[in-house]
Amino acid sequence: MTKTVFIIVDGMADLPIRLLKNKTPLDYAIKTNLYRFLKHADFAYPKVLGKFAPQSDSGVMADLGYNPLKYSTGRGWFECLGLNMRPKEGELCIRVNFGSIINGRLNSVRTYMSKQEIEGLSEEINRKVKVSSDFEFKAGEGYRAGLIFHPGKNMLSSFVSNNEPGYTARFFGNEVKLSFATGIKDKNIRKIKAIKKEARYTAELLNDFVSKAAEVIKNSKICKERKKMGLDLPNYLFLRDAANKDPRLYDINKKYGKKWAAVVGMPLEKGIATSAGMALIDTSEEKDIRKDFYDKVEKTVKALSKFDAVYLHIKQTDSVSHLGKFRDKYAIIESIDKIIISKLANSLDLEQDTLVLTCDHATSSELRRHINSNIPVLISNKKFGFSSDFSEVNCSKNHLKEIRNAVDIMPFVMSI
Ligand SMILES: [Zn+2]
Repeated sequence: MTKTVFIIVDGMADLPIRLLKNKTPLDYAIKTNLYRFLKHADFAYPKVLGKFAPQSDSGVMADLGYNPLKYSTGRGWFECLGLNMRPKEGELCIRVNFGSIINGRLNSVRTYMSKQEIEGLSEEINRKVKVSSDFEFKAGEGYRAGLIFHPGKNMLSSFVSNNEPGYTARFFGNEVKLSFATGIKDKNIRKIKAIKKEARYTAELLNDFVSKAAEVIKNSKICKERKKMGLDLPNYLFLRDAANKDPRLYDINKKYGKKWAAVVGMPLEKGIATSAGMALIDTSEEKDIRKDFYDKVEKTVKALSKFDAVYLHIKQTDSVSHLGKFRDKYAIIESIDKIIISKLANSLDLEQDTLVLTCDHATSSELRRHINSNIPVLISNKKFGFSSDFSEVNCSKNHLKEIRNAVDIMPFVMSI
């Protein structure tokens, strides 16, 4: 059986940057090893969510073939599932950021902390915050966390807005919910609002939780320690994408008749892969990028001996884009080439296997946010001819007509 490696490099696409000779980081990066895959490759340049700038959840879903406008019930479900919180329908699952406000105005929606710090704060929140519904709060990576409210006598509704100012929740009928990356337009702190009458209790509950948790964080030992060390202080929680339904993704193994595994370190991607029926290879995000890439590519190659296809997710490109570090971004893409692509070029059978290299959305490192640009896709397989260097501009000039939207990538790749 032929093998497929499907790599999603988070937020890899970008806009041209003057200081990079008007090239994007992907275009600017030297990718020597990728040439081995370009000998037989074709490009695609699809939209992800039309005119909207996608979040990672909708971008990854679309890349894997699931139309977010049909399946998404809110990112919170995947986040909590990926954090092993075992969400059930009717419970309200939420993605949380630790951030900070100063004098009632927004300072930051992301306060990075060590594993020990974020776990310590999460434990305090679980212990000390008392609101009218039971909940479980769980630390994720860096500044991220998951939150599940259990319905007691009050039904919990997902028809609530986000208090995370960069992402706007939109509803499509009664089932579909997703947020778009709309960017942060001002420094006002928003209350969570009920979008439908049925969500009034939920909105009150979440606002009560946010204000009580803020007090607990401010008074925590961890914040006092960080203050002494001169580090940024988290003092506020930003909630988004509350979901109370299972998105019920179809089983990707059955759909295409191939056994899939996922080598992904982030909770969101773990949640999506699990929902799709992929086997999760035990993986975490290593702080050291080189170590992270060696670990992930070794796991990918190993998984190929048991599985037909592997979804490999690389996070760091998006993180540095949000910090405006475009030089780090092209350096990371070069490391992907040196460590991951070179290993795959030596391990895959280039006569018959398929490599896909793409991203979930474009993230502009100058704007420091996701944008609605089309995404570059490389599909390498013996049946294609030679392609020139892989970049946004080359994909836009020369691409497969069959792939107009990101949801078309997977069916096309699986039919090769
Ligand atoms: Zn992303």
